[in-house]
Amino acid sequence: MTRLTREACAALDADDPLAPFRDEFHLPEGVIYLDGNSLGPLPKATPERLRQAVEQEWGTGLIRSWNDAGWIDLPFSLGDRIGRLIGAGPGTVAVADSTSVNVFKQLAAALALRPGRRVIVSEATNFPTDLYMAQGLAALLDRGHELRLVSAEEVPAALGPDVAALMLTHVDYRTGAMHDMAAVTRAAHAAGALMLWDLAHSAGAVPVDLDGAGADLAIGCGYKFLNGGPGAPAFLYVSKAIQETYRQPLTGWLGHADPFAFEPGYRPAAGIARATTGTPSILAMRALEVGVDQMLRAPKAALRAKSLALAETFMAAMAQETAGQGFRLLTPADAARRGSQVSYAHEGGYAIMQALIARGVIGDFRAPDILRFGLCPLYVRHEDVWDAVRTLAEVMRSGEWREARFARRGKVT
Ligand SMILES: *Cc1c(COP(=O)(O)O)cnc(C)c1O
Repeated sequence: MTRLTREACAALDADDPLAPFRDEFHLPEGVIYLDGNSLGPLPKATPERLRQAVEQEWGTGLIRSWNDAGWIDLPFSLGDRIGRLIGAGPGTVAVADSTSVNVFKQLAAALALRPGRRVIVSEATNFPTDLYMAQGLAALLDRGHELRLVSAEEVPAALGPDVAALMLTHVDYRTGAMHDMAAVTRAAHAAGALMLWDLAHSAGAVPVDLDGAGADLAIGCGYKFLNGGPGAPAFLYVSKAIQETYRQPLTGWLGHADPFAFEPGYRPAAGIARATTGTPSILAMRALEVGVDQMLRAPKAALRAKSLALAETFMAAMAQETAGQGFRLLTPADAARRGSQVSYAHEGGYAIMQALIARGVIGDFRAPDILRFGLCPLYVRHEDVWDAVRTLAEVMRSGEWREARFARRGKVT
């Protein structure tokens, strides 16, 4: 294999059709940002969009803006736009609440649709909040529901006649490994179970076709690859096929068939609106829509091609520059099974990442020993990947990561 060089990386960037997007982000001087899988960076258009929403829509429009500025329909108009990123047709996606709360609503709806079944299957290594919410729901229902946790390989065998729902994160938050959405959904349906996908690391990161895969339910996150800002609203998907029978327990007034009739009894709205609960966060959605609209402008095929190419560059540079330093690749080598991040295990992972961040290369660490690098094709260049890996090699060569200051842990890791 030919030796990778900075010049070769820069040459890849010269041919990049997505290159103009980089300038649309506020990226601080001296920082290489490889953590957009945890918190996407700020699009330059967002502050102005927010200023306009605050001063004109809120300040001048006041309460009239619920109708005049389209606030009341924003969860659905923005949901439809997110739908275009995840293969979900109009009227199947709403922006609402947090991912965690949406897990609760979606799982509760799934269990209600499979009343004779008592098992939720998921991966033991799934993102903990998904598992915690399932545990809380089971405890609240108090009808003997069981959360059956298995490895990814054991999922097919775990799907028996007692399973109500299979809940999986499409792209593993630790390793970046991606499930075959269509095949897994088919297996869930063959067992009579409903399929709930968590798209936290998929929306805006990899091609997704929820309708095409026949998925029943999905949830996803606004502040990761969609660049919606810290704590951005989440979204949820309910397939057309189950919308009429779908009922979720957080039956707030904005999920009512006629909220402004102010009736004493709850009646679910038609369509996806019944998946929503209360008054949406308009300012947060105005920020999120900047990120979503920007993503929609980028050609999908180019996004995926560059994401995979960045990962190839990353892995090749790591193999070349940090051989023998104890890094173990966790991300599948097979491109078809990869999300938009690369991960390595290293026993010194936490301190190494802190030392790397101190040098301006921002990735993140996940317990117990995982270094994660998010590769967002809208703003990460091959040149950045090269520089990041060279910096990591320097952190290892110098031994600086062993300094005591890099072992101290903050509240957020
Ligand atoms: C980031 C993430 C979440 C986050 O949930 P919040 O309610 O936004 O805190 C949930 N699930 C997965 C798989 C995630 O990666």
